[in-house]
Amino acid sequence: MRIAVVGVQGDVEEHVLATKAAMKKLGIDGEVIATRRSGVVAKSDGVIIPGGESTTISRLIFRDSIADEILEVANQGKPVMGTCAGLILLSKCGDELVERTNTKLLKLLDAKIKRNAFGRQRESFQVPLHFKGIGEIEAVFIRAPVIVEVGKDVDVLATFEDYIVAAKQNNILGLAFHPELTEDTRVHEYFLKMSEI
Ligand code: GLN
Repeated sequence: MRIAVVGVQGDVEEHVLATKAAMKKLGIDGEVIATRRSGVVAKSDGVIIPGGESTTISRLIFRDSIADEILEVANQGKPVMGTCAGLILLSKCGDELVERTNTKLLKLLDAKIKRNAFGRQRESFQVPLHFKGIGEIEAVFIRAPVIVEVGKDVDVLATFEDYIVAAKQNNILGLAFHPELTEDTRVHEYFLKMSEI
């Protein structure tokens, strides 16, 4: 199994390490490759889009055709996970800030997101959440977006306050928080197991 981590910007290395640790726990013989160039994502069995700055990541992936490769991999039914800024990019619809910054989205997840939903007072925080199919996890939020609306084919996996913070539509998994920043690898294991569907 080969997992590609889109490495143009953001917390790339943390995802590489978390995915490798998850592979080890599941006994999967695989490799995890961070990439800034076109060609790698297309040959992968799954893709992770990390957190960072969504406008920047968007500009770079659409410029270098990595975006097309992600769409191709997603259309083949292979798992694609986006965390935080990655969730924004996966979504079908953004908010006024996404519009104003001309941030192009991949539109793979039938969801509407709101960027920086928790405001300046709560830029980053950690809370326990119930994640459907996993149980209780500690979720780290950093200038996080949230999902404010989902389509009927989307499975809501976790909520916090009035918001959806984890959702899945077939092979597409979007998280508002950062599972790569805790020692717990269960969310990455969940993602890897999505390739068995
Ligand atoms: N606030 C960032 C954005 O809107 C996302 C933050 C993150 O990925 N940690 O792009």
